Amino acid sequence: MVIFLYQLLIGLLLSGSIAFLAYLLNLLTLSGMIASILLGSLVIAMGPWYAIILIGLLFGTSAIISFLKQAFHKNEQSQIIEKGSQRDQQQVLANTLPAFFALLFYAVTKDIIFLIAFVSSLAGATADTWASEVGMLSAKPPRSILTLKPLLNGQSGAISLLGTAASIIGSFLVAASFFLFLSMSHGFQLPPWEFLLIPFLVGISGSVIDSFLGATIQALYRCVVCKQLTEKEVHHQQATNLVKGYQWANNDMINFLTGLLTVFLSLFLTIL
Ligand SMILES: [Zn+2]
Repeated sequence: MVIFLYQLLIGLLLSGSIAFLAYLLNLLTLSGMIASILLGSLVIAMGPWYAIILIGLLFGTSAIISFLKQAFHKNEQSQIIEKGSQRDQQQVLANTLPAFFALLFYAVTKDIIFLIAFVSSLAGATADTWASEVGMLSAKPPRSILTLKPLLNGQSGAISLLGTAASIIGSFLVAASFFLFLSMSHGFQLPPWEFLLIPFLVGISGSVIDSFLGATIQALYRCVVCKQLTEKEVHHQQATNLVKGYQWANNDMINFLTGLLTVFLSLFLTIL
C-alpha cells in the first residue's frame, strides 16, 4: 500500500508535468490534460515501470508526427475529419480505456495474459494513429478497405499503401519495446516469442479493424449547404444529413470498440 501511494505520487508528478507541457504546446485540451494526468498516474501506480513508457510511445510519436507535418507544411487537415490533432478528453479515453482496464486486471491478477492484452491494444492504437497521420501524406487517393474504390483523403475506412506501412512500423515499435523492456526486467533473458508476435499482429489487426468499422458502421454526413461529405454533425452552422452508418458510431466510439476488440483478440490468442 505504501509502495502504491509512493508510485501514485511519482505518477502524479511525472504525468502532471508531461500533460501540462502537452497542454501548453496545444496538443491537449484542458479536459484532455486532466484525463491524461488521471490515467497516467494510475498506470504508473499499477503497472510495471515500462507501462507508462509504452503509453508515452503512443502519444509521443503521434505528437512528433503532427509536429513534423506542421514543420514541413504538410498539415492540410482533411475537411472530413471530426476533430483536429489536439486531443481532448474523449479521444484520450477512447484510445486507451480498454488497454487501461487490461492493465488493471494485470495489477489485480498478475496474470501475464492481461499485460500482453494491454500492450496489444496500445500497439493497435499506435498502428492506427500512425496509419491515419502518415497515410494522409499519400499522393494517391486512399481506397475503401471494403470495395477498394477511391475515397476522400482522411475518410474513415480508407486505406493506403503508405498508411499500411506506417501501421506495421508503429505496431512493431510498441511490441518490440515491450519485448525489450520485459527482457531487461528479467536480467536480459529472452521472453517467449509469442510475447513479441501477439502484440505485433494484434496491433496491425487493430488498424484493420478500425478501418473496417470505419467503412461499415461509422457515421458519415453530408453538409446541406456545401454538399461536402463530413464526419461533423454540424457544417456551415447547419445540421448535416446522415448518408452512411449510425449516428452513435462517431470516431471516438470506433476507436473505443477497436481497443476493446484488440484486448479480446489478444486474450484469445494468448489463451490459445
Ligand atoms: Zn458545409
